Amino acid sequence: MTAFIADETRWQDYIRDIPDFPKPGIVFKDITPLLANGNAFAAVVSELACQVSPDVDAIVGIESRGFIFGAALAQQLGLGLITVRKPGKLPADVHSVEYELEYGVDRLEIHRDALSRGHKVVVVDDLLATGGTAAATVELVKKLGAEVEACLFVIELSFLNGTKALGDVPVHSLLHVE
Ligand code: AMP
Repeated sequence: MTAFIADETRWQDYIRDIPDFPKPGIVFKDITPLLANGNAFAAVVSELACQVSPDVDAIVGIESRGFIFGAALAQQLGLGLITVRKPGKLPADVHSVEYELEYGVDRLEIHRDALSRGHKVVVVDDLLATGGTAAATVELVKKLGAEVEACLFVIELSFLNGTKALGDVPVHSLLHVE
């Protein structure tokens, strides 16, 4: 773990709540102040890195805030970054998985040649809510024959029980919101 106590502040203090965004009733966890502070950002990435075992072959980042943490984590660990994207963004052949939203469905995609059978990955996103996004990502990785060693989040909204959607995939979250 990284000591980030230079001025008695902690990286957790750089995440702010924005009520009723993007719609009424949702408390949005805004990580932009954390990203804007070099010490806080570095401290989070170091804490994420502590959760990744040495046998992991690649980091899988989920669009879009998962790209930010995933890319920094991959760099810190000397690993590559695989991007899981919203529909129509990846240019080569893709696998797609649909998942349920509160109203309707959405889809995520991965390049078919992004990973090989037997590869071990860690999936990274900023926040775990209901788990639908991460579960779809796990499904995409499995379609390629690769293995998800763990899912990693900066924030977990524990009251939504998102870990249930991930079944037996280990989940590590740095900050739990009850
Ligand atoms: P879910 O699929 O329900 O687990 O939602 C997780 C995804 O939605 C992540 O990519 C988050 O960035 C985003 N998300 C969901 N709820 C929030 C929230 N309260 N604050 C910030 N991002 C959220």
